[in-house]
Amino acid sequence: MAATMLSVLRKIVQEVSTAPDLDSVLDLTVRRIQRAMHTQVCSIYLLDTISQRYVLMATQGLNVEAVGQVSLSPTEGVVGLVGQRAEPLNLEDASVHPSYIYLKSTGEERYHAFLGVPIIHQGEVLGVLVVQQNERRRFDESEEAFLVTVSAQLAGVIAHAEATGSIQPVGNNVENGGERFAQDRRFSGVAGAPGVAIGQVFVATLPADLETVPDKPAKDVDKELERFNTALEAVRSDIRAVSRNLAQRLRSDEQALFDVYLRMLEDNALAGQVADRIRAGNWAQGALREVVAEHVREFSAMDDAYLRERATDIRDLGRRVLSHLQENVNSQDVEYPDKTILVADDLSPAMLGLVPEDKLVGLVSVSGSGNSHAAILARSMGIPTAMGVVDLPFTRLEGREVILDGYTGRVYVNPSDDLKNAFGEILREEQMIAAGLETLRDLPAQTTDGYRMPLWVNTGLVSDVERSLERGAEGIGLYRTEIPFMTRDFFPSEQEQLQIYRRQLEAFAPRPVTMRTLDVGGDKALPYFPIEEDNPFLGWRGIRVTLDHPEIFLVQVRAMLRAALGFGNLRIMLPMVTSMHEIEEASKQIDRAVRELQEEGLDVERPPVGVMVEVPAAVYLTRRFARKVDFISVGSNDLTQYLLAVDRNNPRVAGLYAPYHPAVLRVLHFVAQEARKEHKPVSICGEMAADPGGALLLMAMGYDVLSMNSNNLPKVKSAIRGTSLAKANTLLQRVMRMDDAEAIHEYLRTSLKDMGLGNLTRPVLPGR
Ligand code: PEP
Ligand code: MG
Repeated sequence: MAATMLSVLRKIVQEVSTAPDLDSVLDLTVRRIQRAMHTQVCSIYLLDTISQRYVLMATQGLNVEAVGQVSLSPTEGVVGLVGQRAEPLNLEDASVHPSYIYLKSTGEERYHAFLGVPIIHQGEVLGVLVVQQNERRRFDESEEAFLVTVSAQLAGVIAHAEATGSIQPVGNNVENGGERFAQDRRFSGVAGAPGVAIGQVFVATLPADLETVPDKPAKDVDKELERFNTALEAVRSDIRAVSRNLAQRLRSDEQALFDVYLRMLEDNALAGQVADRIRAGNWAQGALREVVAEHVREFSAMDDAYLRERATDIRDLGRRVLSHLQENVNSQDVEYPDKTILVADDLSPAMLGLVPEDKLVGLVSVSGSGNSHAAILARSMGIPTAMGVVDLPFTRLEGREVILDGYTGRVYVNPSDDLKNAFGEILREEQMIAAGLETLRDLPAQTTDGYRMPLWVNTGLVSDVERSLERGAEGIGLYRTEIPFMTRDFFPSEQEQLQIYRRQLEAFAPRPVTMRTLDVGGDKALPYFPIEEDNPFLGWRGIRVTLDHPEIFLVQVRAMLRAALGFGNLRIMLPMVTSMHEIEEASKQIDRAVRELQEEGLDVERPPVGVMVEVPAAVYLTRRFARKVDFISVGSNDLTQYLLAVDRNNPRVAGLYAPYHPAVLRVLHFVAQEARKEHKPVSICGEMAADPGGALLLMAMGYDVLSMNSNNLPKVKSAIRGTSLAKANTLLQRVMRMDDAEAIHEYLRTSLKDMGLGNLTRPVLPGR
């Protein structure tokens, strides 16, 4: 029994994830469950968000005419009771239960045994899943466990379908412009970079990533057909070429696979269907995505394992055709709207450069979270960004006007004039505040009682240098060297690196420039150096990678040293360090690079070397590290994630990623004190330093340097100039006694307002 249940469950999960719409999901599910459990009835009731009633949405066994017609209030019937109590109800004879009500139109009078389980998503009851039988009996434990498991699977699918509008929430339909989106339809994600934007969506597609291709109207149907045929012909000749090349090495049955591929591409198969879709008005890429998705769905649902595998072939063919279609679109031809909101399934640092800066007003990523590196770069560019908007139906948004609220991570589709006006007002206010802050550029970051707080910047993009100097940065506290590595096709050579680094060092000289050695892994992948791991944040990251690859490390350090010749402002910093031997090993490599260059006749010196405190182990070794190195710099982004065990990149736990968690504050204070005991300078380069409230706390903790994205520097400077060190100390003392991260955050906001610095906190937003 257990084994068959498991295989049924697998099958349901598989089918549910590939079904075209929610109705099919529900129908499939009731059919499968009824068959697997040998019950007479299986039904699903979903809660209508407007009428607050449980509506019968699918059934096997009851009268199908009742679907969509019959509904129950949460206080009615045993179904209502399951929903209300949010727990399973297993009854030998439902008809004698005090809550039972008889629904004539369903024809359910014949059934006695009843098992109902709630369908719950993120703590909310979405509906009830029911099985019923003629006889009087209690369902056994394994049956109950099975139904609960299916229900848990179903919950995510229903919530996603409602949110993405692949179904409308029951009773909430509004027709608009051919696509169905309710007015001011809101999709919630995670705050990425502050600010608001009103603009038009442009969907960024990764090369050959068919699933993220948006729908777009075909401008010229004949031209689209021609493009498609050209791509098709190219794929055919690719396949023939591969087939010829492998002719000697493959058996004839294996060779036959290529013929199957070619047949799939014929007019009476895939090609004809795509052409039909193009004629119906979609552009070639969109038409291809639709047809491939349909076939994949059909094949995946087949019982025969061999046929199921064909889904992979179709996907592969789809990708091949797509890459040819993308080839003959010249990226220069792409016309971006004047106010582009770039939407991507997984926003990567490389995509940020896609749209000309004067046209880019906002960024949205379906995956990722507020401390993903794409979000960090977006903050540095000052582009409002929403991350982790997991339910956004982005393939259907191309060209649509949307509002983006980067403070809360929300996206509004089909916005009303009222909402546009309200956000327009905030945009104007923001512009005024920014203009006011510009006047601070040449003024020192000094408190009212004369304490001078050095403000440095974090850089990575080429444009960061100019922006940072414009904002009055006094040094670079973190240059993320991996960023230029990410936008290339292979590791940059020593000479190339030298040129890239020199730009930073030269522009800032004589001010210090802290260059971090390559920090890849985690959510930072190099396209030419893939690292596939189950737990990338606990895996091969940062210094672990470079110590395993001394050839990469040495080249990088040599390039840094050579780039600094004549400027003398280089500092080298090591990321993700957990133990002493890593520092010793890296130091040896740095010494070796210095020696080599000196032997080559260059007048290089060993620069100051520092270490980042980013993991709990490093926190407790700060003092020992400090004896070995020249400076300590806290990477609070990673430190927060490792201390709280919250993936900085996962939107599901974004609410738990709390930089103002009392434990984080305690640790930050501790590290500053430990470094000071060894009289070594301690700085911070995590995002917390960029928050005006956080910056005041860090100043009071004794940090010698705050390093932040250049965009926030004027705000932080304004906060420091608007208060005294004495007040910041009092603030710190109060906060350190508080228990709750959210309360601390709120307290900081109110304190800034009380100090007359309300313009540095988040504005009051509409649509809350
Ligand atoms: C940090 O972890 O706080 C940090 C500054 O490094 P990154 O954000 O690049 O991981
Ligand atoms: Mg880090």
